[in-house]
Amino acid sequence: MENNLVLYNTISRKKEKFNPIHPSMVGMYVCGPTVYSDVHLGNCRTFVSFDLIFRYLLHLGYKVRYVRNITDAGHLEGDRDEGDDKFAKKAKLEQLEPMEIVQKYTIGFHDVLRLFNTLPPSIEPTATGHISEQIEMIKQIIDNGYAYEVNGTVYFDVEKYVQKYDYTVLTNRKLEDLLNNTRELGGQDEKRGRLDFALWIKAKPEHIMRWPAPWSTGFPGWHIECSAMSNKYLGAQFDIHGGGMDLAATHHTNEIAQSEACNHTSPARYWMHTNMLTVNGARMSKSSGNGFLPQELFTGNHPLLERGYSPMAVRFFMLQAHYRSTLDFSNEALDAADKGFKRLMNAIALLNKITPSKATSGFNLEDIRKNCYAAMDDDFNSPILIAELFEVVRIINSIYDGKSTINQKGLDELKAFMKDFVEDILGLNDDSNAGTDNMDELMNVIINIRNSAKQNKDFATSDRIREELSSIGIQLKDSKDGTLWNKI
Ligand code: AMP
Ligand code: ZN
Repeated sequence: MENNLVLYNTISRKKEKFNPIHPSMVGMYVCGPTVYSDVHLGNCRTFVSFDLIFRYLLHLGYKVRYVRNITDAGHLEGDRDEGDDKFAKKAKLEQLEPMEIVQKYTIGFHDVLRLFNTLPPSIEPTATGHISEQIEMIKQIIDNGYAYEVNGTVYFDVEKYVQKYDYTVLTNRKLEDLLNNTRELGGQDEKRGRLDFALWIKAKPEHIMRWPAPWSTGFPGWHIECSAMSNKYLGAQFDIHGGGMDLAATHHTNEIAQSEACNHTSPARYWMHTNMLTVNGARMSKSSGNGFLPQELFTGNHPLLERGYSPMAVRFFMLQAHYRSTLDFSNEALDAADKGFKRLMNAIALLNKITPSKATSGFNLEDIRKNCYAAMDDDFNSPILIAELFEVVRIINSIYDGKSTINQKGLDELKAFMKDFVEDILGLNDDSNAGTDNMDELMNVIINIRNSAKQNKDFATSDRIREELSSIGIQLKDSKDGTLWNKI
């Protein structure tokens, strides 16, 4: 299948032509959430970014297998397997079973992503559902000589690995710098090398989540789950591996090492990393407490917020930035995005109110379409796509205002164009009428009452209807075809 897609590959640090392994199929793995607390808006940004990528690949005609895991075991507080188990700690705090924690936050995660109109992945595997695959992979890594066991815990041998492979291939950091930034081993340590990380961890007596394995009753390290699950569902090598930028240095670096040590191949050809959502310049994160919950943003119920915004306006806000740029969160930026989003939705609604004429005048949709594809083909550049769409908004408004014309064929093309780019690719739809899906009927009732008032020369009532509608953002326009309405 032909495509013109170019994407930025973290591993080569440049944009590359996208050539999937199988010509008409794409395998994509994205690291999913650790479900021990509510997802914050930063997490959502990453998943919305990959939703855009998924949608565009589907639009191009690829059969995409999109695997996004749920981390429900093995994630300790420190990325380098130190500290408490996140699930056990939260379970103690909330007096729940660890699996109740997992269930609660998995449901919450799905609910939020549904509000953001993200498509579900093709497969959503869990770490706890793939313990045997992880054990098999660890066995293979030991057999290949890249891991060792100490007192029931298995470590990946980074020193051995670097003799043959490049451990910093993803980040391009210097190995000495990495070593200098890593804590020196103390007498208590079981690891041989400072950079070694755990593949299997022997459970302490109080640890609840535990499984039998050849080395001990214990639990898997965080990094091995993604290697085992991507290998199972996408093969030893697949097309795209993604996640937030914060995962590249440790989690993805270790995933590459595990796959090389097990299968002698790097798992993914293209590594894609989304940039962070920041608040006043600082990364939004669960641990630093500056994380907005999506619900707080929808209701406006947060000290830093002046008002609430609809999920689609927030999605639009995210897509107005390129996925590799940081996006800073502020009331002003959200307000501006909300206005832009309403303008876009309003133009789409106007398409159903335009009466076609004999000829189309004054614009070339094909040129705009070309620019839109060029934007998306250039590493999924949604801000440029949105700028092009505002050109279309200007055209629609000018037709509606009678300043230019469009014929039936042109109108149908325009509708299909907006459906492709706004609804299917950007995943945006008008959620302002949520709960009032009979808005058109409702407006007809009001317009009929106003018309009767006018006929009865009761202009006080007809003017009042117009003014009160205008104050809630609905504009009436009298034309030869009757009274039309639209949102301002
Ligand atoms: P976690 O649940 O912490 O494992 O994170 C889930 C996903 O969200 C990962 O791909 C992270 O890289 C990503 N992520 C975490 N914080 C942010 C942020 N502030 N902005 C964008 N993505 C983030
Ligand atoms: Zn992962």
